Amino acid sequence: MEMNDNKRRRNMILYVLIAFAVYLVLSNVLFPSMRYQQKITETDYTTLVDALDKKEVDKVEYNTDSYEILWTKKGEGDDVAYKTTGMPNDSGFTDRVVDAGAALTSVVPDRDSGLWVYYLITVFGPLIIFVLLGWWLNRRMKKAMGDDNPSMDFSGGFGGLGGGGLGKSGARIVASKDVGVTFKDVAGQEEAKESLKEVVDFLENPQRYEEIGAKLPRGALLVGPPGTGKTLLAKAVAGEAGVPFFSISGSEFVEMFVGRGAAKVRDLFKQAKEKAPCIVFIDEIDTIGKKRDGGGFSGNDEREQTLNQLLTEMDGFDNQKGIVVLAATNRPDSLDPALLRPGRFDRRVPVELPDLTGRKAILELHSKDVKIQPPIDLTAIARATPGASGADLANIINEGALRAVRLGRKRATQEDFEESVEVVIAGQQRKSTVLSDHEKQVVSYHEIGHAIVAASQSDGAPVTKITIVPRTSGALGYTMQVEQDEKFLTTRQEVLNKLAVYCGGRAAEELIFGEMTTGAANDIEQATKLARNMVTRFGMSEEFGMMALGTVQNAYLNQDTSLTCAPGTAERVDEVVKRIIEEAHASALQTLRENKFKLHELAHYLYKKETITGEEFMTLMRRENPFQPPQAQQ
Ligand code: ADP
Ligand code: MG
Ligand code: ZN
Repeated sequence: MEMNDNKRRRNMILYVLIAFAVYLVLSNVLFPSMRYQQKITETDYTTLVDALDKKEVDKVEYNTDSYEILWTKKGEGDDVAYKTTGMPNDSGFTDRVVDAGAALTSVVPDRDSGLWVYYLITVFGPLIIFVLLGWWLNRRMKKAMGDDNPSMDFSGGFGGLGGGGLGKSGARIVASKDVGVTFKDVAGQEEAKESLKEVVDFLENPQRYEEIGAKLPRGALLVGPPGTGKTLLAKAVAGEAGVPFFSISGSEFVEMFVGRGAAKVRDLFKQAKEKAPCIVFIDEIDTIGKKRDGGGFSGNDEREQTLNQLLTEMDGFDNQKGIVVLAATNRPDSLDPALLRPGRFDRRVPVELPDLTGRKAILELHSKDVKIQPPIDLTAIARATPGASGADLANIINEGALRAVRLGRKRATQEDFEESVEVVIAGQQRKSTVLSDHEKQVVSYHEIGHAIVAASQSDGAPVTKITIVPRTSGALGYTMQVEQDEKFLTTRQEVLNKLAVYCGGRAAEELIFGEMTTGAANDIEQATKLARNMVTRFGMSEEFGMMALGTVQNAYLNQDTSLTCAPGTAERVDEVVKRIIEEAHASALQTLRENKFKLHELAHYLYKKETITGEEFMTLMRRENPFQPPQAQQ
């Protein structure tokens, strides 16, 4: 009972605080001129044009209704603004701004803010907001925390409104003439580039396509995991074709006022038509293009209106003008099918995680900007980073350079990059965590357990590094295995081998200390996931055979599967998974028993050295030990 009261009081306070914050932000946004009262200088249009010609202008905020222009100069910051009214009907205005290299923001005008509206809003506005908020919080509390949360919509809109600088209340349409990126800046995405070359060609020679009567896709959807270079590719298309690039992010559409999103889309396309040929890029399109489902809070209505407007605009423009709409998403399966219909985003450009050669190309590209100390073997780094995205790889190079600086060197070495692979993939080395002596021993045995099981398999990936230096990610040590070649198919035996390797750490602890520790938590998680996939997705169990028992929820993000079978079956799946893991565990334990002597020897070695290479490990593993008792004894 008491708990409940406390909770309610806390919610009450939260509610009042949020409402107050919303009110402050709203009053700021609805009457933006108040923000600049002291610092605004009135100028006429020729002054602005002069400043533009001299390329002195930094940002331009342009009200599409009243033709009022607020602008700032480079080097003066956002505090000093100029206001230009009475702009003549100059259709070349957008050109001027873009040519001057200034950032252009169009403001979609607020509703008529006459005096009575002012009163209505100041008097009833807070009231309405309070009521709505109360209702929203109530609804949120009823819903179990964390399910498809409307709070996301809310905070999104909130953040959008609070975003700083000019154009607080308007659409942020970013136009730039020269994006400074071409296909040369995108490495390893050859197929994606190939299919986008056609778009470039279309933008360069629209008449050629017109003459023959060919219809080009109006839109292309770049689909792939985060960090693979989708945004980069879209910019590169504009850069290659030398056309303006209008970009807007889907998350910015999610706003509080119904109708604003749709107005932004209208405005975006209006500007694009003026500047055609050009690229319109909609990043994170899944935020507005989610599958429409009936019934919902106003957030959904808003999204739906925005989506409808986008569809209307895409159907409406004259394709021969040369507007190509590119969009990016990492959740293609959640998109509304209407977006994928012919004449809209009917072309899909997969932007996948790079393979070995792709990774090497990306590393090479990014290492060009860094001073390096030869010899550098980027192939080795590419080999050690399967599953890394382009952004990860760019990060690895940068972290390597940072490490060189930290160590007071002028050039980055191979060691820097190798270390940064671990930083990016396993978290920073955590020098401050001090393990007790006993803990260090346990971790040594645990890691060598993994390594020995891996090494005893005939064609497993070789162990390349073992360390017991803790990482900030929380891992106390780890054993790195690197495949010789890129692998696309995995056999059942290989999956079983991998499971045994996962079990090797815990098995070693049990064998030597007769005790379990929490250190195996991550291994257990990985092993369970793998075993479950064997049963539900790979058809690798005798019990179920080739029966799909689950669907992958999001192919690009985490491969999480949800079961699609009867509850009774789910129970049996659990049993099979349990059995598979038990068998893997038993096999790992058996291997370690047979190699107990090596386990001791190697664990002591690791304990002393903390980090050992794959070669050191293999040499010791193969070495005849002079003190080893004759065979058969263990
Ligand atoms: P996405 O939009 O797919 O999430 P981005 O285009 O924003 O990914 O990529 C982020 C950064 O990662 C880029 O700015 C670039 O530095 C780097 N990057 C990603 N993919 C590549 C690639 N294929 N070639 C070169 N750099 C890349
Ligand atoms: Mg992106
Ligand atoms: Zn482990």
